[in-house]
Order: sequence, then structure tokens, then C-alpha cells
Amino acid sequence: MNSKKIIGFTTTIPVEIIFAGGYMPCDLNNIFITDEEPMKFIEKAEKDGFPKSMCNWIKGIYGVVMEKNIDTVIMVMEGDCSNTKALAEILEFKGINIIPFSFPFDKDRDVLKREMEKLTEALKVDKETLISTEKEIVRVRKILQEIDELTWKENIVNGYENHLWLVRSSDMLGDYKKYKEMAISFIDEVKIRKKIDGVRIGFIGIPPIITDIYQFLHSIGAHVVYNEIQRQFSLPFDTDDIVERYLRYTYPYDIFSRIYDIKEEIKRRDIKGIIHYVQAFCFRVMEDVILRETLNCPILTIEGELPRQLDTRQKLRLEAFIEMLTEMDN
Ligand code: SF4
Repeated sequence: MNSKKIIGFTTTIPVEIIFAGGYMPCDLNNIFITDEEPMKFIEKAEKDGFPKSMCNWIKGIYGVVMEKNIDTVIMVMEGDCSNTKALAEILEFKGINIIPFSFPFDKDRDVLKREMEKLTEALKVDKETLISTEKEIVRVRKILQEIDELTWKENIVNGYENHLWLVRSSDMLGDYKKYKEMAISFIDEVKIRKKIDGVRIGFIGIPPIITDIYQFLHSIGAHVVYNEIQRQFSLPFDTDDIVERYLRYTYPYDIFSRIYDIKEEIKRRDIKGIIHYVQAFCFRVMEDVILRETLNCPILTIEGELPRQLDTRQKLRLEAFIEMLTEMDN
């Protein structure tokens, strides 16, 4: 059993610092959504007074902290979710140790550097250890980039596998060395596969709460070759400067950096259509307005609410969209 102290967090943060401090990072979103019964975390939150009309990711995170007895959580106060501040207050009230972290909205390098230094100090991380850990993690990020390329260049990794490898890079399942070995074995395994055929789709927006959307898309002839936010979580940027890496990361800043990134990837990956996933009761739903006007590509918006499978209406909409794209592509 791993005896390292667990540090929870609510979105991607500089995980290098947590590893360098000798802790076990734990992305609470991943614990929530990969549990066999994610509804129990939502029910716990609602039992404790969270309203029905609230984003279920927030309730899931709360439920995980309570049910899994996590005593320290890094909360991103700026650059993540409009609900974070209130959640941080509730958790603090419940006795959880909260470590605040912020991504400056204006991408001020000095402010971000200071935020990272504050986190380093809060976790009592030795600077030399941070430098060596960071170098090792850069190598893991490069292997994840290879998995991403095997998805869109070689077409031998499917969209769900791509999603899983990249979304889990936020905490590397708590052990980056093991994660690296797992990723290398995965690459060895898939190299003999046949190429995936299908209309090339991009998936933008936060990772979906819906549990079978990738499998369904695959079954109706779509090949998801781009997972926007999950790829951002893996920080696939060629730089040895840790501050620069987290400045190039688009998710916590304005929508315009995201749009630039999405447009580049649409071209590079030859994407024929975009699925924009939005979460019920999330403020990010409003971003759909700008995305629809700026992306020169057919877009279908799908909204999810609970961690469950697609409903019939969602399936019909996806089928019609993929059918239309397939016809346009022929
Ligand atoms: S889906 Fe939106 S409201 Fe929910 S946690 Fe994420 S950013 Fe916050």
C-alpha cells in the first residue's frame, strides 16, 4: 500500500510540485467519475444541502472529499470554476485544509511564478528536487504526446483511450513513474493494430460526465482525433520552463487562447466536425456562443448532467450529426 500523504485538487495544477514534495496527487474529478457508483458522491452532497440545480462535478468533488477522508485540497480560486470559492469555504468549514492556487487571468508571468513559489513553500518542497522531478515528468508528457499522435496521425488509438490517457495526466494516477511505464506498454501493445476508419471528430469543452459517449461515437463510425481540454491537461508544450508551460496551458485563461488552439488543431488533424460538450448549470455553457461564431467547422453541442449513459435524444442527435458529416466527407 502507498503510504504517501494524498493531496487532492479540483483541476489541473502544477502537479510537479506535489510529486516533488513526496505527496500523492489526486485529481478529485477522476476519483468521482471513475468510481463504480459516482451517484453516491452526488447524493452525499445533496444530503448535506447542495441544491439539485447545481453542477454535478462540484457535488461529486465534495462527495469524494467527504467520503474518501481527504484532508488537504488545493483549490484553484482563479482560472477554473465560478463555484470554487464557495466550495472552498464549505470544505474549510468542514475541517479540510485548503491550499489556494490561482492562474492569473491576464497571464502575468510574475504572478503565476509567485503562485507556484507559494505552493512550493506551502508543501515545503526542496527546489533541487523540484527541478529533477520536473525533468522526469517532462519525459512522461512526451510519451503522452506520442499517444496523442498515435490517435490522429497513425489512427490506431481510439478517442476514448486518448481521453483516458490525457485526462489522467492531471495526477498521473498518483505515481508518474508507474504511469510512464504503463504508457510505454500501451504504445507497444497498440503498434500492431489496424487503422481506425471513421469521420474525424474533435471533442471540445470540459471532459464529459456522460459515461458512454466515446464508445457510442465509435460505434456509429466516428473517430475522435482530438480531445481539447484533456490534451491541455497533459501540457504538451515544448519548453523546459515550468512557468512557461503553465502559461501556455489554455484552460484557465480566456476563451481566445482556447479558440486559437482549437483552430490550429482542426487544421492539423483534418477535423470534419466538432462536438462541444457542456455541463448543465456550468457558467462555461455561455462560451458556446463565441465558439459557434468563431470556429469554421460544423458544431454539435451536447449537454450532460448526471454520470450516466447517453439518453435516446442525445443518441439521435449524435447519429444525425455523424451521418451529415460522413455525407459531406464523401
Ligand atoms: S463543469 Fe463548470 S460549473 Fe462544473 S465544476 Fe466544471 S467549471 Fe465548474
